Amino acid sequence: MTLPESYVQKMKELLGIEFEAFMNSFSDAPFQGLRVNGRKLSPETYLQLTDFKLTPVPWIGNGFYYEDDAAPARHPHYYAGLYYLQEPSAMTPANRLDIQPGHRVLDLCAAPGGKATELGSRLQGSGMLLANDISTSRAKALLKNLELAGISNLCVSAEDPVHLAPCYPEYFDRILIDAPCSGEGMFRREHSMIEYWKEAGPDRYVPVQRSLLESGVSMLKKGGKLLYSTCTFSIKEDEENIQWILEQHPELHLIPMEPYEGFSEGLLGLTDAVRIFPHRMKGEGHFLALLQKEGDPDEGGNAEKTAEKLLPLEKLPEPVQEFLKLIHRSFREGGFLIEREQVYYFAPGVERRKGIRYLRSGLLLGSWKKNRFEPSQALAMTLTMKEFVCSCSWRADDPRTVKYLKGETVEPDDTEKKETAWRLICVDGYPLGWAKLAGSMLKNKYNPGWRWQ
Ligand code: SAM
Repeated sequence: MTLPESYVQKMKELLGIEFEAFMNSFSDAPFQGLRVNGRKLSPETYLQLTDFKLTPVPWIGNGFYYEDDAAPARHPHYYAGLYYLQEPSAMTPANRLDIQPGHRVLDLCAAPGGKATELGSRLQGSGMLLANDISTSRAKALLKNLELAGISNLCVSAEDPVHLAPCYPEYFDRILIDAPCSGEGMFRREHSMIEYWKEAGPDRYVPVQRSLLESGVSMLKKGGKLLYSTCTFSIKEDEENIQWILEQHPELHLIPMEPYEGFSEGLLGLTDAVRIFPHRMKGEGHFLALLQKEGDPDEGGNAEKTAEKLLPLEKLPEPVQEFLKLIHRSFREGGFLIEREQVYYFAPGVERRKGIRYLRSGLLLGSWKKNRFEPSQALAMTLTMKEFVCSCSWRADDPRTVKYLKGETVEPDDTEKKETAWRLICVDGYPLGWAKLAGSMLKNKYNPGWRWQ
């Protein structure tokens, strides 16, 4: 790996006596991280369940380093959404945004969902997460990751934030802007970033970052918090952008975030901003700044909602109602929508707006075709094993578990009809998907697009 000379020179000026330690960090291997999904289980429970040798990431309560020979992406627990694989420094922004259940949360540049999955998980099913990315193809991957994580109070959009902003004036309690950037902090991990940097460098990104900040601020509620993060060391993209947005908006303040001894202060006097350097911490380079808008959260903008006619539970077709009775969870508080043969549930607080390109709004419960209801993969992932009347759980090393994930027909534990032919298939007590009893076999209903390859 050859670093561009102008980059090396810039880092020398920035780091002074620490420059040598920084350059030495390039000979260390990058760290591999796994973040436990708090929507499904606690880190303590996961540690009892797993065979991986894990070491805590010291500044992230649910973050762990795993060893090089582990293959966590090829483990049934990954398919149960028990964790997300994420570089340790990248765990910091969602962790330090202070999400509480009930919040309206926006992740403006969310794909593929490393941070959005944590934001959604912290909502614990209450409030709403809008996860947006300008790229439709990347937003599709984002939706899959959010569904795998079992996030139900959700909208996913593929919009230019400039277009999103007028639809949500002063609407969100928390906003994350994990901005596209020149990626200087990722050079050790992703060598391809060096080539992109040589082509364009920081100057390409500053206008888009400022536009993202402007859109974000206009969607932030009074009293709300906005976290801006990048994975670059460039002052132009980091502190200068924060200075600029503070000048544009005197109602904004930079506020401190939960500290950690390895964090470095921001430059240009922005001491409450955080820089993460690989020679000071076991993670790649990052920048974070947490901003708060002055004012009373109860005062603020509102925009016209979509005149949505949500159906109450009683108005759903009988077979859909019958299926929902098999789930020990109340669906009465929210409303339902049937669109193009798909049935959606909008939990209280989940709403969409006119004129936005949503890839998903609400929880997709399943399909309603030819008078038959088939539950969705997304629904399975939001359930606990005990919430469905007929669940069956296999161990991760039971050969049926991987056969099921490959889409094959599998033998059931029993062939009794019970209340329903549907079975919620679980691994070690955590749902993977659906199957349907057909004679002495289980017909596989695992989402074909998610299969174990
Ligand atoms: N937050 C993501 C995660 O943790 O997985 C990573 C986000 S990545 C640093 C930046 C993202 O911004 C890319 O997915 C890119 O498609 C998106 N992006 C680029 N320009 C954008 C814009 N103008 N508005 C919204 N998203 C944009």
